[in-house]
Amino acid sequence: MTYVGRFAPSPSGRLHFGSLVCALGSYLRAKSLGGRILLRIEDTDTSRCHPDNTLEIIDELSRLGFVYDGKVRIQTEHLEEYYEQGLKLYESGYAYYCSCTRDSLKRTPCQCVTRPPEFNRIPCALRLRLNERMPAFFYDVLRGYVACQSPLNAPTLIRKDGLVSYNLACVADDLRQGVNEVVRGADLMEVTTTQQYLSFALGAGYVMSYLHLPLVMADDKHKLSKQNHAVPVLDEGNCQEVLLAALRFLGQSTCGISVHDTPRMILNKALSSFDVRRIPLESGGDPLR
Ligand code: GLU
Repeated sequence: MTYVGRFAPSPSGRLHFGSLVCALGSYLRAKSLGGRILLRIEDTDTSRCHPDNTLEIIDELSRLGFVYDGKVRIQTEHLEEYYEQGLKLYESGYAYYCSCTRDSLKRTPCQCVTRPPEFNRIPCALRLRLNERMPAFFYDVLRGYVACQSPLNAPTLIRKDGLVSYNLACVADDLRQGVNEVVRGADLMEVTTTQQYLSFALGAGYVMSYLHLPLVMADDKHKLSKQNHAVPVLDEGNCQEVLLAALRFLGQSTCGISVHDTPRMILNKALSSFDVRRIPLESGGDPLR
């Protein structure tokens, strides 16, 4: 079976060092196994994502030497597909419509799971119905079995205002695109069992493999992100410098790689010595700051 991986940034800003680490880790893992690597823009949360950032990210990845297989998939161009999947989940009993608001939940617990279908004519969110088939752990290539707590509240798949959630769009696309290993930041380990369950509910015929990369931290508690003012990585150094720093962050050898190489040459050299077992588990700070 051909390995199919993906890099799936949300365009809430330009690439920062944390997103470069994910881009590099997912690229090296896929190409070192002779696989395909896809680029997918996860922009369904239009309050956080902007099309200008999408263009910037695609341009920055290309300047950094990354070449992706197939056409870039931009999720906001496929919203109808996620609504269809949502309906399928409702019809097969894996999801239910819920009209509760944060305020109403403070007063009375949600009863929507047991409501009759006529009730669905009023504006409602679509939520994943949790049950005992929700897995309690998943297998991670670097960490082995990882235990996860079930979410306390049923995850929202489609918001009342029609916004498609990250979980639904991500899992539906991973299946549609035939992705068989997800390489991403360790902050997303907490949603992995929910995504595995959702994937099963959507009819996946295989179990996804996961590899979670160490996080780049802004401080002791928070990962680097747009919210805590991460600096765009290409403002911190040139392509060669930032690629070398990301390789070191992933515990990879930079022997024989120079800042005078083109980014593409750096990636090719990094591929020939890539060793997944050298990726550390611990998070670290941004070495370029
Ligand atoms: N779009 C997510 C992010 O930028 C990553 C999703 C994933 O890799 O599953 O944080």
